[in-house]
Amino acid sequence: MLEGVVQGVGFRPFVKKLADRLELPGITFNTARGLVVEIDSTHEGEARHFIAALRAEAPPASRVERCVVEEIAQRACYEGFRITPSAARDGSFTLISPDLATCDACLAEITNPADRRFRYPFTNCTNCGPRYSITLSTPYDRANTTMKRFELCDACAAEYADPADRRFHAEPVACPVCGPRLSMEICDALPMVEEGRILALKGLGGFQLACDAFCAEAVDELRLRKRRSRKPFAVMMRDMATVERYCVVGDADRHLLGQTAAPVVLLSMRDPAAFPPGVAPGLRHLGVMLPYTPLHHLLLGGSATCLVMTSGNISEEPIVIRNEEAIEKLGPLADGLLLHDRDIFMRVDDSVARTFEGVPRVLRRARGYAPSAIALGHEVGEVLATGGELKNTFCITKGRYAIPSQHIGDLENYETVQFFEETLRNLQSVYQAKPRLIAHDLHPDYLSTRWALTRPEPKIAVQHHHAHIASCMAENGLSERVIGVAFDGTGFGSDGQVWGGEFMICDYGGYERWAHLRYVSLPGGDRAAREGWRMAAAHLYDALGPEFRRLDLPCWSGASAASWKVLERMIERPAIMTSSCGRLFDAVSAICGISVESSYEGESAMLLEAAAEGQSGESYKLELNTQTVPWTIETRSMIERIAREIAAGQSGRVVARCFHDSIARMIESVCSSLRERNSVDKVCLSGGAFQNFTLLSDATALLRRSGFEVFLHSQVPPNDGGLSLGQAVIAATYLKDMS
Ligand code: ZN
Ligand code: ZN
Ligand code: FE
Repeated sequence: MLEGVVQGVGFRPFVKKLADRLELPGITFNTARGLVVEIDSTHEGEARHFIAALRAEAPPASRVERCVVEEIAQRACYEGFRITPSAARDGSFTLISPDLATCDACLAEITNPADRRFRYPFTNCTNCGPRYSITLSTPYDRANTTMKRFELCDACAAEYADPADRRFHAEPVACPVCGPRLSMEICDALPMVEEGRILALKGLGGFQLACDAFCAEAVDELRLRKRRSRKPFAVMMRDMATVERYCVVGDADRHLLGQTAAPVVLLSMRDPAAFPPGVAPGLRHLGVMLPYTPLHHLLLGGSATCLVMTSGNISEEPIVIRNEEAIEKLGPLADGLLLHDRDIFMRVDDSVARTFEGVPRVLRRARGYAPSAIALGHEVGEVLATGGELKNTFCITKGRYAIPSQHIGDLENYETVQFFEETLRNLQSVYQAKPRLIAHDLHPDYLSTRWALTRPEPKIAVQHHHAHIASCMAENGLSERVIGVAFDGTGFGSDGQVWGGEFMICDYGGYERWAHLRYVSLPGGDRAAREGWRMAAAHLYDALGPEFRRLDLPCWSGASAASWKVLERMIERPAIMTSSCGRLFDAVSAICGISVESSYEGESAMLLEAAAEGQSGESYKLELNTQTVPWTIETRSMIERIAREIAAGQSGRVVARCFHDSIARMIESVCSSLRERNSVDKVCLSGGAFQNFTLLSDATALLRRSGFEVFLHSQVPPNDGGLSLGQAVIAATYLKDMS
């Protein structure tokens, strides 16, 4: 019995070929739990050889999590080796394969004029093509996918039935005769993008909006129509050579770009001026992906080598998947619609990742990754974790796995909550999950919390930053106590304040908050998160008192006299206090005159990172006050120095570099104090602030130099997209302790 990603990835044909080669009679079939292989062998050595080859030569897209070998009494006399129909559900489950980027063999066919699949946009095989996005239920058979309505033609049926063929049992197999069709010819769609117009196309896990990345008018027009102000766009580039022409590509990046998940990879641009400013405003990094479906390959086969490729949705709604929905919602945004009749069942947006220290780090986990499971290494009870509010994901546990959902989005509107519910219904049914406990964030007003509270199952509230650290622990297989450094924008604290610059000693069972950034007021709540100049005022007031406005700083330009009055009152008599690291970055970004306002989450901090350059000079000192409980990390003298340097004409870029360095040093020094008190030397870094790779690499290097073992995220994001995994392992531990 093989468990893991063993269905929909060409495993049965592979087993058959192997058995035929070794002349072993037997059978193989899918079950809801995995893949069963029975061989009739009288030689032990022969069987061992077969099992070793099963693991060593497994198809590229498969992942064998577990291989259980049993000796069984002979059940039948086999005539050769056969693939038999899938067995019925037996109460257990198998993992669904994520969608897979087009393989080289299929690409060769669609570019070969002599091939019957020449320029056919739905070409796929056992090594590539749609999986999760078209799977209605398990086991993974054509009848359980959205391909069920396309009857195979004779040629395809022959390939499907031929053990020697690459398409043997390829469930979504199709060709121009029998398969799905486009609503518009590629040769009509191509000139549209080449002429600077906007095309909506039905991709793998949802619709996308595309335009020529070098056409400034098209890019600006797309921003205008999509009502997207400055959030960077991703660019799809024709091939690796094109990517290398515009970006710095390391070995790990090249590997990641070419993986079957084909995520958007963040790369540093060789020359940011090569693209119009509207592509990634103010940033030095660009999100780049390679074509991952035949349709994309065909679109990029013309003269356009780089296309802006962004999710087909309006404002903050989920990505559109149905044709009628696309006509209604994307029709007005696009100059043309490229539809087809292969239905998308599960919406999965493009994933985003970046490499650090040679390892891929997922920042948005969706197409190509979901719904693959995170192995927990031990059996856990069944729970459901509903995640956070922004960048929501949920997570279910089953057997020895945690299965995080794909990126759902910001749970701030009805459509996104519906997407949450439909995805949950689907994953619960394919994995036959019956949660005994539901975990949710401590924040009472998150829609994910409110949703959880309507459910009949028992509930557990998990503190936001505890969940961040538990998430990092879980994917690194840690269960002992660690030092958790959770730095992010916002998370509800147990004292009712907004946390976000937290040091804790914790395990899955609980946490102790040992230190945090000094509390300052959060003037205007959510508005303070968007308008960084408000945070600048809060921090400057804290550091300098009411006199702070006398300093001549660039960030005051935005505020009117009337709004100052209101703001000052809010700062003097704060309703809410915050220890947020993200808000500290916003404040410094504003004081430096780099960004006084964020048009998307994290913009001011991202621009501050992009501005940081050169060698760091003398760093600012953030004193650790151990007289308070928890300890307080003083920010006042740093803020005062930064403000005076800027007022005296120092460059914001130099201050930005020095600031990053100072935060990294502070992390190392607080961890050292914690190690002295608690004898713990494993450090987990989590929270959205660690998407800042300047901070991440500085902090990691300093911690290692001091002898700490440092653990980072890779499979799930450090941002709130990773929360649900942390909540799930905490809930599963609670469940175990209860029983
Ligand atoms: Zn293929
Ligand atoms: Zn066909
Ligand atoms: Fe967070």
